[in-house]
Formats: sequence, structure tokens, C-alpha cells
Amino acid sequence: MNKKIAENLNRIKGEVAEACSRNRRDPSEVRIIAVTKTVEVDTIRALLEIGHCQVGESRVQELIQRSAMIEESISRREGLTEQRPETPASRPSWHMIGHLQRNKVKQLLPIVDYIHSVDSLRLAEEINTNVAKLGLVKKVKIFLQVNTSKEKQKYGLAVGAVRALAEQIRTLPNLEMVGLMAMAPLTEDQELSRFCFGRCREIFEELRGEKICGPAFNHLSMGMSQDYITAVEEGATMIRVGTALFE
Ligand SMILES: *Cc1c(COP(=O)(O)O)cnc(C)c1O
Repeated sequence: MNKKIAENLNRIKGEVAEACSRNRRDPSEVRIIAVTKTVEVDTIRALLEIGHCQVGESRVQELIQRSAMIEESISRREGLTEQRPETPASRPSWHMIGHLQRNKVKQLLPIVDYIHSVDSLRLAEEINTNVAKLGLVKKVKIFLQVNTSKEKQKYGLAVGAVRALAEQIRTLPNLEMVGLMAMAPLTEDQELSRFCFGRCREIFEELRGEKICGPAFNHLSMGMSQDYITAVEEGATMIRVGTALFE
């Protein structure tokens, strides 16, 4: 299993590097988030074993369960290898990539490093308040999700609403806006995907140019298995890849 995943990961990294070189970008700017929602926990363990720690889930309940299972096996292993500190376990860094309901925020916050799907002030405020209530010392890194494909069934902010929300979130002390997230429609049409990603990058650059979102605002979370190459060509710094990694 490890071999197959390592091969897929290397292939994806190679494709990302090629897309970067076409656009004179440094490939180290692009992080691959392994989306593990369709695989077993053992596969996540295999991923960690080959040193890949950036993992994403789209449902809160599964993220929590899986992180608990992995934490348990890491603790057990650390117990066994107490005498051998030369084999430190790699811990996952969790990304919440799917729609987030306000009533799930509290459980999620202690575990997660990035939330890619903030699309309302009420959700942002819920996160902000709960960071304080839980006494967490970290700021929570968030993306604003933008619906650049304008599909009615998609979550995310309307393009015209992004700036106003960014200005409001800027005043919340426990959040750190790290960038924008967008999804292209389910399509084989790469030019349509390119349009959606390009639109997201334009908004990102406008906000960044005007210094609206703070110094950490450096990321574009765009691209899945069907369109990560196009997304990298359009400036993605985090791609969220499931199927292509585990097939
Ligand atoms: C499932 C999912 C992905 C990954 O999809 P694949 O097509 O399997 O690469 C990326 N982003 C989000 C928000 C998802 O829900």
C-alpha cells in the first residue's frame, strides 16, 4: 500500500513541478493536501509513514474519529519506543475542507489546523468565540470559500461579498485569514475550471494588494484530482487531492 501511494504522490509532485516550471513558479510553494475521506484509517497511517502529514477531511465527525484513532496509535507506539527517541512519530496536520456547521465548531477546533470553508460572518464569529472559550493559544487559520463557479448548490461566498466579509473577519482576534478557497464545477472542461480559479486569484490579489487580510494571507486553496494541474497553473498554493492519490 505504501508503495502505491508513494508512487502516486511522486507522480502528482512531478506534474505540479512541471506546471510550476511552465509558469516560473517555485514548486515548493505548492502543498498537497491528501484528502482521506474515502480511505481507511490504515491508509492515513501509511501516508504518515512515508512522511506526508497534510491531510484533509470534509466531514467533522470523521475528522474527529480519525484523528483520535491515529493519535491513539501514535501514543501506543511512542510508549513502545520510549527508549528509542530516534524514531519520532509524524503527526498529521488536519485540514477541514468541507462545509462546516456552527454547532460542530467547538469539537473541531482543538484538532484542526486549517479551515478551508469559512463563508459567513456567523461561522467566523462562532470560531472566534470558541477559540477563547476553549482557551486555545493558537489562532485558527482560515480560508474564505468563494463560489466563483456560481453554481447554486455550491457553498461559498458570492464574489461580490468577499471583501465585506474579509473586512469584518479582520477584526476577530482569534482568526488568521490565510487565503481564499474555490472549487470548480464537476467538469472535464479545463477552461471552465481555469476561469473559476483565475477569478479566485484575481480577488485574492486585489485583497492582498490592498492589505485587507493581514500578513498571513498568502494562500490559494484550489484544485482537486480532476483539475489540480490547471489550479497550479492559475496560482494554487494548496491542492486538495483524494482520488488521484489513492487510486
Ligand atoms: C473530496 C474533496 C476533494 C478531493 O476530491 P478528489 O476528486 O477525490 O481529489 C477536494 N476538496 C473538497 C472540498 C472535497 O470535498
